[in-house]
Amino acid sequence: MLTKKRRSDDPDDPLRRTFYGWDPQDTIERNWANNRGYWVLGARASRESYVLFSYSDQHEVVMAARIDAIIDAPGKPGRKIIEGQPLPEDHPVYQEYVGGPTPDSARVRNPVTYLESSVGGWPCGCGCGKEIYAGEFVRGHEQTALHQRVAQIGTIPEFLRWFDAVRAGTESGARTPGSAVVNQAGHLDLTVGGDGSVRIQFIPAEA
Ligand SMILES: [Zn+2]
Repeated sequence: MLTKKRRSDDPDDPLRRTFYGWDPQDTIERNWANNRGYWVLGARASRESYVLFSYSDQHEVVMAARIDAIIDAPGKPGRKIIEGQPLPEDHPVYQEYVGGPTPDSARVRNPVTYLESSVGGWPCGCGCGKEIYAGEFVRGHEQTALHQRVAQIGTIPEFLRWFDAVRAGTESGARTPGSAVVNQAGHLDLTVGGDGSVRIQFIPAEA
């Protein structure tokens, strides 16, 4: 929660600020530099990804930033400085909160509150580890994910035949199994599980 911009009266300010607080006339960079510290922040702050700044006069979120690190404020025991970057206007977290009302959980006297949000920050569905904010994949990665699976089976025709066979198998169900012809030397291994399940495995002979 930010107050209106006012002159800093701390000669030992580790950020060497002359002002702190929110000024709508200042640039976002200036407002960020004036307000990223120093705060009383608990251990939980280190697990947060973003910080929102509300302007107390308007009960409105005025700035959002990505948290890169929470560091100790030099010379200020128990106080912390946030390292990071103000978010651009097209960022989903910015779009969700900036310009909107201060979230209910922050409408208390405590200058710092924590809120749960499902906006942004889940991993791409292909497993590459990139963070995404909408949908399930980084653009194009669904193709990568699909082709990786095709490659595990073989060529595209091989994949299609395998897929159709698996689907046909699932749909006809185990109750009416079709006949299978094995034109290969090998042996059949039959296992009966402890739960009564029966498993038959064909093991081809060594070439
Ligand atoms: Zn991906």
